[in-house]
Amino acid sequence: SVQNIRDVAAVCKKYHIPLNIDAARYAENAYFIKLREEEFKDQSIKEIIRAMFDCADMFTMSAKKDTVVNMGGLIGVKDANSPLILPIKARCISYEGFTTYGGLSGRDLEALAIGLYEGLDENYLRYRIGQMEYLAARLDDAGIAYQAPVGGHGVFVDAQAMFPQLPYHEFPGQVLAIELYKEAGIRSCDIGSYMLGNDPDTKEQLHAAFEFTRLAIPRRVYTQSHFDIMADALIAIKERAHEIKRGYRIVWEPPILRHFQAELVPIEE
Ligand SMILES: *Cc1c(COP(=O)(O)O)cnc(C)c1O
Repeated sequence: SVQNIRDVAAVCKKYHIPLNIDAARYAENAYFIKLREEEFKDQSIKEIIRAMFDCADMFTMSAKKDTVVNMGGLIGVKDANSPLILPIKARCISYEGFTTYGGLSGRDLEALAIGLYEGLDENYLRYRIGQMEYLAARLDDAGIAYQAPVGGHGVFVDAQAMFPQLPYHEFPGQVLAIELYKEAGIRSCDIGSYMLGNDPDTKEQLHAAFEFTRLAIPRRVYTQSHFDIMADALIAIKERAHEIKRGYRIVWEPPILRHFQAELVPIEE
């Protein structure tokens, strides 16, 4: 909420800490602010974004999300005389490229310049969030639990509710991801104990508070039929969920961010 951003900004101001906005989801967040925050219900997405960014000293943006482009991002610093600018500039060449293009090709920069506007179109945002709501409504009808209300970028299905028989250390969220792939070729991922990983000191598997399977929805890719396939696949899995007696165990894992690359095998009964 803008109220939350303002409260954080007040604390930062008091202690002279520059406030940076992670702007990857700025447009979808502005749309949620319009829907949910009384003060902003009659304002345009652009005006709401103005109110958000008025609170901050700088922003970093992965443009691959709300700016609807294949590649790219940017850093903005509000005050042209800010002491933040020179250290950013100094590191830019070795990490990304010259400050004017940051390693991006001209084609990507042009797409980004257009996407910064297109991503703010309220009709587009309504259609985008509407896709999540459509899938959520089908899950409601089928009695399939998910994190509610749905967010902007995807639907998080409650895999522990789907497989109450599976303990966290057999990775219910990953089991559902694998079943979705087997059922209908749908690629998703665990947001649960499998992603959380091991305690850095004891090396014990951590127990996540939730075992979700994330259906992250790319922008402007799927039609309503695709969402029906997702819902139908989840319903089919729910019907046979009790037949799944065991989950998976890890046979290889990298030391960090293991969930992107680890290798799993089914646990035999
Ligand atoms: C995706 C995302 C990032 C990271 O962006 P990448 O371009 O994938 O590195 C950072 N912050 C938020 C809020 C995001 O959603």
